Amino acid sequence: MTQPASLDVLVIGGGNAALCAALMAKEAGCSVRLLESAPKIWRGGNSMHTRNLRCMHDEPQDVLVESYPEEEFWQDLLKVTGGLTNEEMARIAIQDSSTCRPWMVKHGVRFQPSLSGALHTARTNAFFMGGGKALINAYYKSAEQLGIEINYNATALDVEVKDGVFVSATVAHLQSDGSSIQETIYAKTCVLACGGFESNIDKLKEAWGQNEWGEWTADNFLIRGTRFNQGTMIDRLREKGADIIGDPTQAHMVAIDARAPLYDGGICTRIDCVSLGVVVNKHAKRFYDEGEDFWPKRYAIWGRLVALQPGQIAYSITDAKAVGRFMPPVFEGTKANTLEELADMIGLDRETFMQTMNDYNASCKVGTFNHTVLDDCHTEGLQPIKSHWAIPVTQAPFYAYPVKPGITFTYLGLKTDKTAAVHFSGQASPNLFAAGEIMAGNVLGKGYTAGVGMTIGTAYGRIAGSEAAKAVLAHQHQEAGFEEFRPIPSLATALEENVSEEA
Ligand SMILES: Cc1cc2nc3c(=O)[nH]c(=O)nc-3n(C[C@H](O)[C@H](O)[C@H](O)COP(=O)(O)OP(=O)(O)OC[C@H]3O[C@@H](n4cnc5c(N)ncnc54)[C@H](O)[C@@H]3O)c2cc1C
Repeated sequence: MTQPASLDVLVIGGGNAALCAALMAKEAGCSVRLLESAPKIWRGGNSMHTRNLRCMHDEPQDVLVESYPEEEFWQDLLKVTGGLTNEEMARIAIQDSSTCRPWMVKHGVRFQPSLSGALHTARTNAFFMGGGKALINAYYKSAEQLGIEINYNATALDVEVKDGVFVSATVAHLQSDGSSIQETIYAKTCVLACGGFESNIDKLKEAWGQNEWGEWTADNFLIRGTRFNQGTMIDRLREKGADIIGDPTQAHMVAIDARAPLYDGGICTRIDCVSLGVVVNKHAKRFYDEGEDFWPKRYAIWGRLVALQPGQIAYSITDAKAVGRFMPPVFEGTKANTLEELADMIGLDRETFMQTMNDYNASCKVGTFNHTVLDDCHTEGLQPIKSHWAIPVTQAPFYAYPVKPGITFTYLGLKTDKTAAVHFSGQASPNLFAAGEIMAGNVLGKGYTAGVGMTIGTAYGRIAGSEAAKAVLAHQHQEAGFEEFRPIPSLATALEENVSEEA
């Protein structure tokens, strides 16, 4: 016999996926309690840093131009993941992205057209007016109005799971004097939406280990978002036999300004001028094709590329011609009148740096420079090549931006299915669900395409909330609680209902 639970749905986490789950469960008539590890001012996890959601659409839709059909979205995902994705789960997320926005608007989220210079996304991505912070605030306001109980400074430490059935969670409530009070919360169902393990440097170090130069690679990582995604629940669930998916070193990683803070630097620390110049490592050598493809398709590989360089640092070098062609980062670049002076100012070996720059400049076969197409400006006889936008860096003033790996979120997480149920030895739990980063690895084995994090979190947050509500209903018909696994009603039906309601 399990302890009777009066609470219907316990949601662990306080970002986009958690709020979507909580709101859906509440709308379905459940009592819902949400635990956010952060204090109120830092609520919202990585979601508060976001700007947009990737959406499929067959024709122009409010802020989205032209069309972005399901097949194109799927092919984009297939390409970046190299096939490391669950097609059924991915297509469900893609389909949900075409119908979720009216529901989001109902809960106070507002959209705006793409900003110019924002990764060429007017067709594919719907931007949140006021950014992720406004989205999070709107969801919390709606949650409060609907009567969802919200606990801040409430960190889930452990969960009790019996034979794949969620029983309770142990939670630490941080007090204003720094002490904490523990509580055991019983609930009929639970949704885990508490992020990946990207904020946990020790775990990142464990995953990345030492490189060929004896350096602990992750020592030089910066965390672009929240400090609260420590991966505790992934560890606890693994210990309890939950199935795990993903490679611990796979993550969304961007090259960000090396001067950014360890946590929460957010979007404004990203360095977006890579394709307009060259990038050199601390030995003043180039190491990758800066013009391989459009920046939105390549920005997320540069964090990893820099992570593999000695000292995990690199320098993005541009000249006067790049100014105005990219979104300037929050920190100013180092500015110099000559390349020699620039090398001295950033502490690179002048001779090697000049050799690198002179070799690059001499190899540029300049055609018609056009940053909005894959143009014909490329290098010849240079390794590594620069495939597009290769024009000599010769016009003073010259700029250098130091870059380090900025980790956005990790992909290792809980194996789930199309109902968002957590799996134990291949079997779906009847009352434990997961949404957002903690299960994103099911869809994103590697790679990334801008805005898909929120697509996955919104879709599976909404699914987890409605599946939890269905499980509560099933629970009500079974007084003794969950004693054995039972099949969960098909998700497809719920989604179809949603589509017709919102059309
Ligand atoms: C700078 C930046 C910009 C981004 N821009 C975009 C974008 O424009 N579009 C896009 O699609 N994606 C973007 N992403 C990725 C996006 O943020 C994530 O994919 C998405 O927010 C994940 O949502 P989530 O709810 O799963 O996680 P989060 O929003 O991180 O929420 C996790 C929550 O769990 C809480 N938590 C953690 N552990 C516990 C615990 N043990 N107990 C209780 N609570 C806990 C945290 O405090 C947090 O509230 C960006 C990320 C960053 C960092």
